[in-house]
This record gives sequence, C-alpha cells and structure tokens, in this order.
Amino acid sequence: MDHYAVFGNPISHSKSPFIHTLFAQQTAQDMSYTAIEAPIDDFEKTLNHFFKHTGKGCNITLPFKIKAFAYAQKLTPRAKLSGAVNTLKLTDDGLLIGDNTDGAGLILDLNNHHIDLYNKRILLLGAGGAARGVCGALLETQPKELVIANRTHTKAIELASIFDTYGTVNAVAFNDLFGTFDIIINSTSASLKGEVPPISSTLILPETTIYDMMYSDKATAFNLWARKHGARLILDGLGMLVGQAAESFALWRGLKPGSAQVLNKLRQHLST
Ligand code: NDP
Repeated sequence: MDHYAVFGNPISHSKSPFIHTLFAQQTAQDMSYTAIEAPIDDFEKTLNHFFKHTGKGCNITLPFKIKAFAYAQKLTPRAKLSGAVNTLKLTDDGLLIGDNTDGAGLILDLNNHHIDLYNKRILLLGAGGAARGVCGALLETQPKELVIANRTHTKAIELASIFDTYGTVNAVAFNDLFGTFDIIINSTSASLKGEVPPISSTLILPETTIYDMMYSDKATAFNLWARKHGARLILDGLGMLVGQAAESFALWRGLKPGSAQVLNKLRQHLST
C-alpha cells in the first residue's frame, strides 16, 4: 500500500489525515495517510526515512515549508514563485518533486462559490507565507488590480515586486487604502488572536466577498467585523484547506477528488 503523510511540528491538530482518508475512500485508492511530527532540527532525516520506506508523497506544514523547498530535487513553477513547498511527490524514477498547492486550493474554493476574479479589484491583507503562496494563482485569474497591504509595509512592497511581472500588483499601506474592493482576502494571522487588521470599513460594499484564510468552528474576528460592516458573502479558509489537499491528492494519484462532500464532513467534524 502506498503511504502518504503530513509533516509538521506540532501536528496533532492537522485535519489533513481526515481529508485525505475521505478522498481515498471517495476515489477507491488503496493508500494510507497519517500525521507525523518531525523534530524541529531533524526534518530532513525524518523525510529521508519516510521516502526510503513506503512513502510516496507528503504534505508539509508549519514550520517546515521553507525547508521542504530546499529539500525538493525539482520544483514546479508555482512552488518556485511561492518560495515554499507544501507538497512533495516521489516519482517512479526516484525524483522528489516539490509543489505548492495553496494558491490553487484558494482558487478552487472561490470557483466552488462561483466567484470570478477576472477584471476584479482584489485586496490581499498580509505578506507572509500564505500571501506569497496565493499571489501567483490570484494573478493568473487576470484581476484588474491586486493590492497587497501589510502591517510591515516593506514586506508588502517586497511581495509586490516578486509578482509585478505577472499582472497589476501594488503595495499600499493600511492607512492609504482607498476605494472599494470586489474581494478582500485576509491572509494575516491576526484572527488567531481575535484581532482585525486596521483597515477602513469603507473598503467594503455589501457585494464585496470577504475571505479569511483562517478557519475555526466559529466565525473569525475578521469575518465578524466584515459582517458588522455589511458584507453579505463571507467565507473562511476551510474550503481552501480542502482545496489545497485536493490539488496535492491529484498530483500524487493522478485524479482530482470532489471537495464539496469532504468540506461538509470536515465542517461537521470541526464543530464536534
Ligand atoms: P506568517 O507568519 O508567514 O505571516 C503572518 C502575517 O500576518 C504577516 O503578514 C503579519 O504581518 C500578519 N499579522 C500577524 N498579526 C497581525 C495583526 N495583529 N494585525 C495585522 N497583521 C498581522 O503566517 P502565514 O502567512 O503562514 O499564515 C497566515 C494565516 O493564514 C494563518 O492564520 C494561517 O492559519 C492561515 N493559512 C490558511 C491556509 C488554509 O489552507 N486555509 C493555508 C495557509 C495559511 P507582519 O509582516 O507585519 O508581521
């Protein structure tokens, strides 16, 4: 049986085994998927052991995505642009390919909600790893403009400069944001602490889509704030989590599982 896993530290909270086990059942794949906690200073050795035995592929989560980027023998173009790897695949000829499926996972979730970004004005809050992972995929949809705003403005400028040959990308400080946006994506970790990035509520129209990459069994601080200010379509990052997993699964197994049913089950599982 082929073995897959997610590596992180800590890892007990990971929903990936739940998601991939459902994908495998749905597509009748003979495979297993477990969560493995790698020691902080022994990530490479843990992976070597995994791939030397039954390991065929894995997901990588915090804090190892950058180390996995260096560990991969070949990178997909989107992984190169992201500067981080969340998926590794061992090919039949023994090559380890590194990919990043976060951006595709976000777009898959937005598509599932019939949200079209073509010619739209997008605001991306945050300039950390999650933001970098989605910029390429957001620009592929050919928005009118992608505005990046971050607490540390220099990081937003750096991120915009990495992607400025892929479309119209501008770094704007929180205080200088103007107009309204078709979609506002919160990729900051502020919601983890119940905080909201200091942006004006005038950026939101009732038809602005609000997307917080964080998820939990309750509405996130950002999403509660946006609802209070009139946004009608408000999503959290659980669908992106399932979407990036579906993209990883497709890379490993050569077929894309359906995500709607798995997302429903995961939502129920979160609230128990
Ligand atoms: P990083 O640590 O790389 O980046 C954190 C970002 O949040 C930085 O831009 C930081 O700004 C900003 N930030 C932190 N606290 C605040 C605050 N109080 N107010 C404003 N900005 C703040 O984290 P990641 O990018 O890896 O992850 C960010 C979030 O995305 C997490 O909540 C994570 O759970 C979620 N995520 C969800 C995924 C999904 O599949 N749904 C996938 C990946 C991530 P500064 O630069 O100034 O420090």
